[in-house]
Amino acid sequence: MEGIVVLGATGSIGVSTLAVLEQHPDRYKVIGLGGHRNIDLLARQIRAFAPCQVAVAEGYAEPLKRLIEDVASPPEIFEGGSGQVRLARHPQADRIVAAVVGAAGIEPVIAGLRNGKTVALANKESLVMAGALLIDLARQHSARLLPIDSEHNAVFQSLGDENPADVDHITLTASGGPFRTRPLSEFKDIALEDALRHPNWAMGPKITVDSATMMNKCLEIIEARWLFDMPPEKIKVVVHPQSVIHSLVTFKDGSTLCQMGVPDMRIPIAYCLGFPQRIASGCPHLDLTALGQLTFEVPDQRRFPALGMAYEILALGGGAPAALNGANEELVSLFLKGSIHFTRISSVLRHLVNHLKHLKTTAKAGDHSFLLCLRQLEDAFRADAWGRSFVTEQIARNDHRRPDPFLMG
Ligand code: NDP
Ligand code: MG
Repeated sequence: MEGIVVLGATGSIGVSTLAVLEQHPDRYKVIGLGGHRNIDLLARQIRAFAPCQVAVAEGYAEPLKRLIEDVASPPEIFEGGSGQVRLARHPQADRIVAAVVGAAGIEPVIAGLRNGKTVALANKESLVMAGALLIDLARQHSARLLPIDSEHNAVFQSLGDENPADVDHITLTASGGPFRTRPLSEFKDIALEDALRHPNWAMGPKITVDSATMMNKCLEIIEARWLFDMPPEKIKVVVHPQSVIHSLVTFKDGSTLCQMGVPDMRIPIAYCLGFPQRIASGCPHLDLTALGQLTFEVPDQRRFPALGMAYEILALGGGAPAALNGANEELVSLFLKGSIHFTRISSVLRHLVNHLKHLKTTAKAGDHSFLLCLRQLEDAFRADAWGRSFVTEQIARNDHRRPDPFLMG
């Protein structure tokens, strides 16, 4: 039996992971479940999977205990970030599914890697924040990072045992999100419910908004840069609205390999749980004749300025990706609360990238060395905090509930 810890168990990826795990009761034992505030769902998961340890947000342990009073052997319950870390370090945990959303997910990822675990990574934000350091940690501790993110999972599968030197480039596919065909002149009318309606994938709210701005693809370019040690200029993006080809690898002889499947995260999750073997995911198989055709488009950089920012931010290096990621998280959270207009996400991020470029060329850079050079994890946390306060300052300046006039072209 393999011991599994699922962090972010109550989220979209977490629930899909448990749906795969329950098909293989003879193969996996759920050791730990990390949730945050959704303790009703966590209580049901505890009854179904009987983990020995559970982590929740500060203040949620007592209410959870009351919900599982009648459970014969209840799990140990920990609170807060340190609780997630304890789960990730559990001696019986062989694989950690890291599916917390946002920067909060990085500490348990680090703990898993430091303890030599196989980390099935959905939490792309941790690689964006500190990719170089995480890859180093994995190497030092002989830990394995397996990508759950569907595009990276497709690249990982397509690379197989090929010689990395034979790769010419990789192509990440992007659905284009809900606003792929909406005229730019109508972006001013975008409401929260429009942004939360993704055409192909059912996901948590943060990544759904990231897909609508295409910030998700920006984060994924950065994620790919570290996962596959790929120079940014060798990472391309193509819009593929059907989300059936999950990404492609082109080799120097002109061969292109890809991974295909129905758009359901249980497939990459099952791959990461089973690796190096294959296990059933419970997903229907692809029926190409039913699909009829697959289409591809060049991404529209004017509509989705976030895409280009990936390359600019990678060129800046250091803590710049962590700053961008922190700022984006802050902006998405403001948008989800109805405090800013959709178009402000991209425009504030644009300002941030410009400001970082300016900092790099001025004497002021000395005060912000953590933004330009990532020596230790602390630098990534400081850069993240800097990005968040940049957003707070920008929002305080004027009314960001109105659409951004510049983005409207
Ligand atoms: P959800 O919003 O559905 O779930 C987030 C999970 O994280 C929940 O279990 C939530 O707990 C928990 N959580 C939130 N804040 C904290 C915190 N501070 N500490 C610990 N746990 C916390 O997100 P998704 O499942 O959609 O996404 C998870 C990650 O996977 C993201 O990084 C995303 O980018 C990535 N990903 C997701 C895909 C998808 O299809 N959904 C595809 C590819 C990548 P609770 O609900 O109990 O409060
Ligand atoms: Mg993805």
